[in-house]
Amino acid sequence: MAAVASEVQAQAQAQSDAEQKSRHQEIGHKSLLQSDALYQYILETSVYPREPESMRELRELTAKHPWNLMTTSADEGLFLNMLLKLINAKKTMEIGVYTGYSLLATALALPDDGKILAMDINRENYELGLPVIEKAGVAHKIDFREGPALPVLDDLLAGGASRGSFDFVFVDADKDNYLNYHRRLVELVRVGGVIAYDNTLWNGSVAAPPDSPMRKYIRYYRDFVLEVNKALAADQRIEICQLPVGDGITLCRRVS
Ligand code: SAM
Ligand code: CA
Repeated sequence: MAAVASEVQAQAQAQSDAEQKSRHQEIGHKSLLQSDALYQYILETSVYPREPESMRELRELTAKHPWNLMTTSADEGLFLNMLLKLINAKKTMEIGVYTGYSLLATALALPDDGKILAMDINRENYELGLPVIEKAGVAHKIDFREGPALPVLDDLLAGGASRGSFDFVFVDADKDNYLNYHRRLVELVRVGGVIAYDNTLWNGSVAAPPDSPMRKYIRYYRDFVLEVNKALAADQRIEICQLPVGDGITLCRRVS
């Protein structure tokens, strides 16, 4: 009897472990840590208590949106905010705004005369978060351009004056264009400036066997992310540091 009970217990445990594992993989874009509990610990101990009120409001508003999977996580938001202050960034760019969580983290970090050139093909989602950004008193730092980012970068390069002028760029849009962005951004960021590419661990899929089960969009963009990671590692014009924050972020510091 006791043996049957312990077998049932073991089966229940195995099932719970499997559920925990798949749930963890499911939220892999938010946490590549060894357990959900550890990630929750970080959020509850160090992140939520120090997240600015406006960022909390925007995070909660975004959580109700159907595409909320795209938003930057709170721990990554605070990371960006700190990084921008550490490098004294003043002139920055963001490619991929959505409702503006990373944009707000950036805007709060810049000095009052700081500027962010922010681009997204979708204005509607930006406008959803805009009232929160306005209430936080930082909207004047943002120059939002609706439309694909690539032509804007080409215009900046053609103009000449913007070359080598940006302190920081956050790239969080179409992964199949990351290399096209990179070719242009290395010339737009100043020597010593930083380009941050988001989602470079792509839900952990970059290290998964190619035949393992993956959501369709994860599989589709996986090869592009793999190619970007190789290209950044080989690019001698930059120093790189890939961090397992959020879904993976690769910081590239221009050195020549
Ligand atoms: N950084 C955002 C945040 O913190 O919530 C998340 C950005 S979301 C992952 C990606 C965004 O890139 C989407 O809002 C999408 O409309 C935008 N996007 C996709 N293709 C683009 C393109 N070619 N140019 C500019 N934005 C693009
Ligand atoms: Ca992202």
